[in-house]
Parts: sequence; C-alpha cells; structure tokens
Amino acid sequence: MFSLASRVAVITGGNGGIGLGIATGLAKAGAHVVIAARDAAKSESALRALSAIDLEAMAIQTDVTDEHAVTELVRQIERRHGRLDILVNNAGITIRAPAQDLSLAEWNDVICTNLSSTFLCARAAYPLMKRSGGKIINIGSMLSIFGASFSAAYGASKGGILQLTKSLAVAWAPDNIQVNAVLPGWIDTDLTRAGRTQIPGLHEQVLARTPAGRWGTPDDLEGVAVFLASAASNYITGAAIPVDGGFSSSI
Ligand code: NDP
Repeated sequence: MFSLASRVAVITGGNGGIGLGIATGLAKAGAHVVIAARDAAKSESALRALSAIDLEAMAIQTDVTDEHAVTELVRQIERRHGRLDILVNNAGITIRAPAQDLSLAEWNDVICTNLSSTFLCARAAYPLMKRSGGKIINIGSMLSIFGASFSAAYGASKGGILQLTKSLAVAWAPDNIQVNAVLPGWIDTDLTRAGRTQIPGLHEQVLARTPAGRWGTPDDLEGVAVFLASAASNYITGAAIPVDGGFSSSI
C-alpha cells in the first residue's frame, strides 16, 4: 500500500532541508526522485546522499519562478522516465520584515517563489499525471493558518497554497490526481536557523509552545510524504496535514 516502486517523483527545493528529507523518504519507498533547485553544487551533494537509496536519482537545475524552466523540467522528466507520478511543491523562501518595511519587489519575490511556483509546477505536471493518475503535495506552513508580525508575504503565500490545494483537488479529482498540503511546524533547517538569529527568543518560544518539546527535523516529514504519495491516500484530496509536534493544537 505504501510502495512507490517504479514511481517518478519531482521535489522542488529537494537539495536541502525539508525537501531533501521528503526526497529521502520517497526514495526509501522505491520512487525515482528528481531534485529541482537552483544551486547545482548543493544538488550534487544531495544526489550523493540519495544515490545510496535511488540509483536513478537525478537533479535538474531549475528556478521554479521561471515558467519556461518549469516547462523544461517536466519535458526532461518525460524524456528520461516517460512519466511523472508525484510532484512535491516544496521550494520556498521568506523575507522577515515588518509589512510596512517590505518593498513590492520583496513581496513579489516571496509570492512568486512560494505560491506562483506551486501553480506553475502543478500546471506543467498535469498533462503527464492525467495519463495514469498522480499525487501533488504542497508544502504549506503554520503560517497557512496563523499570522506572524514579521512574515506578511510569507503568510499570504502559504495561506494561498492552502486554497490553491483545495481548488486543484476539486478540479483534478476526476483525473485521479490527489492534491494535498502538508503544514510543517518549526523544523530545524537553513530557513529557520536564519530566523533564530533574526528573531530573539524564537527558539525558546517554539520549544515552549510545541507539545512534543522539540523542534522538528527534515526526516519528520518522510512518513507523511510517503503516505500522501502512495495508494494509501487514494481517497484523500484537498486535505492539509499539520506535521508540527502538536504546535497547532496548543494554546
Ligand atoms: P531551506 O531554505 O532549507 O530550503 C528551501 C529550498 O528551496 C532550497 O533547497 C532552495 O534551493 C529551494 N528554492 C528556493 N528558491 C527556489 C527557486 N526559485 N527555484 C527552485 N528552488 C528554490 O528551507 P526549508 O527546508 O525549511 O523549507 C522548505 C519548505 O518548507 C519551504 O516551502 C518552507 O516555506 C516550508 N516550511 C519550512 C518550515 C521550517 O520550519 N523549516 C516550516 C513550514 C514550512 P536552491 O537555493 O538551490 O534553489
């Protein structure tokens, strides 16, 4: 039920952090993984780690904000594998600043990287997925449901991902494409390491509010990704699953 043998998965931003955790989980379940990210050296290093599990793991240098690059990404996957079964829209950035200090260019950067890319990648994957069904996993955030004073653009992009997930789920259910979101809590990655240096007390606040009593790690995302990518979740679509050690259930 959880086997991904012979499935092909693309993970945007799969060369580090949560994306690499998810790529590792999918590869362990048998999928052939494709990493789509910009930093070629980082992708090479991720591939070295993945090749112990997936001999066919590959990286395609991609800027997910670039419509043509996304089209080319899917073309290359089709040429190499002839199919695409799983898309994980994980690439993301944040700019931490009060909304009144955020420039339009910064706002656009965050919205394009996190939200427009999710639309672009899903739209590009659709024709291939339509042939034999597919699974799209969009990475939201606690800021898909909560607000934070330092993250207006990020929160707007992650809230948008939640609604886009539902719209795509409804639209593509007849094509046997399930579209779901994962809402990670506070996970220890480059993204949040920067946050901990910028926001005094963040580390302690997260520990105090998270019932599990610890920050998450990228491998905490492996299981949910395998579940949402596999036949085990065939009747689940439009859902948003928190992976947060209880953060969103706690006051
Ligand atoms: P990282 O900074 O470690 O990873 C982000 C990844 O996105 C990088 O691998 C980067 O690769 C890629 N990326 C950024 N911009 C682009 C782009 N334009 N084109 C292609 N790839 C891009 O952060 P995380 O692992 O923490 O974050 C992964 C996702 O999880 C994000 O969507 C984030 O919002 C979300 N998230 C993270 C949480 C956390 O606590 N860490 C909590 C909730 C959600 P490269 O630079 O090579 O392009």
